[in-house]
Amino acid sequence: MNAPPEPGYDVAVVGAGPAGLAAAVTAAARGRAVLLLDAADRPGGQFWRHPPTPPDGGGEDGHGRSGWGTFTALRRALRDHAGRGRLAYRPGQQVWLVTRDEDGFLIETTPTHDGVEPLPGPARARRLVLAPGGGDRHLPVPGWTLPGVMAAGGAQALLKGQRTLAGRRAVVAGTGPFLLPVAAGLAEAGAEVVGVWEAGSPLAWTRHLPAVARVPAKLAEGAGYAAALARHRVPYRTRTVVSAVLGEDRVRAVRRTSLDATGTPRPGGTEVPVDLVALGWGFTPSLELPLQLGAATRVDADGSLVAAVDADQRTDVPGLYAAGEATGVGGAALGVAEGTLAGLAAAGAATDTAPARRLRATIRAHRAFARAMHLAHPVPAGWTRWLTDDTVVCRCEEVKCAAVRAAHDELAAGDARTVKMLTRTGMGWCQGRMCGFATAALTAELTGHRPAEAELRSTASRPLAAPVPLCELAREARLFPST
Ligand SMILES: Cc1cc2nc3c(=O)[nH]c(=O)nc-3n(C[C@H](O)[C@H](O)[C@H](O)COP(=O)(O)OP(=O)(O)OC[C@H]3O[C@@H](n4cnc5c(N)ncnc54)[C@H](O)[C@@H]3O)c2cc1C
Repeated sequence: MNAPPEPGYDVAVVGAGPAGLAAAVTAAARGRAVLLLDAADRPGGQFWRHPPTPPDGGGEDGHGRSGWGTFTALRRALRDHAGRGRLAYRPGQQVWLVTRDEDGFLIETTPTHDGVEPLPGPARARRLVLAPGGGDRHLPVPGWTLPGVMAAGGAQALLKGQRTLAGRRAVVAGTGPFLLPVAAGLAEAGAEVVGVWEAGSPLAWTRHLPAVARVPAKLAEGAGYAAALARHRVPYRTRTVVSAVLGEDRVRAVRRTSLDATGTPRPGGTEVPVDLVALGWGFTPSLELPLQLGAATRVDADGSLVAAVDADQRTDVPGLYAAGEATGVGGAALGVAEGTLAGLAAAGAATDTAPARRLRATIRAHRAFARAMHLAHPVPAGWTRWLTDDTVVCRCEEVKCAAVRAAHDELAAGDARTVKMLTRTGMGWCQGRMCGFATAALTAELTGHRPAEAELRSTASRPLAAPVPLCELAREARLFPST
């Protein structure tokens, strides 16, 4: 599975999650030479994240995990194509830069940890499928920098990937269906989950019943999680948020506050003791690589910047395709359908066939469901009301809410980029991955206009997609033509 990389693949795929795996095996099945690069050590992405390999090297148990049969089929195909020399799978490789010339794409990688062999140089491919997924979307709340506060996805990743429970007495709060598997997972693993606090109201789904009816599997999945929560007697509250995290050197309690019908916190609240706070406000697609190549974008129903693609998952950059969360947050099944279509198109196979039309129908149904989900579970309009002057917005640069407000009120910053320049939000280690959404939303409230696509592009653009050692940069003299 790990033959040395050849200069010149027909198709390279970045990301071995549901979308990238499907794209890679589909292109390989059409006889193309495929390179599959992934930062993780094992295939599956966020959805099919693995527990650690047992010391005896035994197999893992996917029992009860959603779509596990699809995953094992994709993994079998991956091994099969790799065994036949059609597909080079390179786990543990972070892609930090992609560029394009007349022959195709050049892909720069760096190993994600010791023990992974670096590739001998940039990989080259005529066509490129980007399936980098996304990450948790964060909203600041007073006290969220205390140990014991985690993104819901982070708490779940610890559980799935390390079999580690991040606390004993937990609250899972935020908005969207993703809160359910996180709470169910924590409860199944033995945590006392004091509640799932949903900022929205599931009744909002009733405005989107036709879209829901098109994806019955999602209803079944939701019902499964609801049953797990009922089994563990986890209370589910709507229009409820964590409006402050309390504690001195770690989380001691949270303040539970209800929201009015406009999404504004009501005064007061109740103190609830917990030692783990898992906050989930949806996901933010990873757009670094599409933006490095100048691909066109659009703003999705949840306000996220996403890659714009046509009916074959083609971006407006010749030879470049995108699939999965990068084209809009919508779930693993959507990722598999988009990845399969992207794999077909990138391999140069016909896409006016009945199977391709069926894939498009699946994509349309899942996109309609995702849109309904985004509209039913918005970030509450009044979320900034729970911020105090002292609330940290940018954790890396320790920029507080007062500084962001002062950038607007006193220094006339009129957009998120100017706020960033004046306050250093988003200039630290994470390059705005954590605070980018909050800074844009806070600025939008201060200025009274929603961030335009150009503004989102400027805050999501990162010249390097990941931190790299300086020696890696030094190796690539072609990146510095004037030196
Ligand atoms: C933390 C988290 C937890 C989630 N849990 C659930 C859940 O319980 N239930 C549910 O229905 N949905 C869940 N989702 C959503 C679900 O994971 C996605 O819908 C689905 O996995 C999307 O598939 P994808 O292939 O687009 O991306 P992903 O599954 O995110 O896969 C992307 C892959 O690309 C790799 N990658 C990214 N950037 C680079 C790079 N620069 N270089 C190399 N590799 C790169 C990543 O390592 C990853 O393996 C979760 C999402 C997140 C972020």
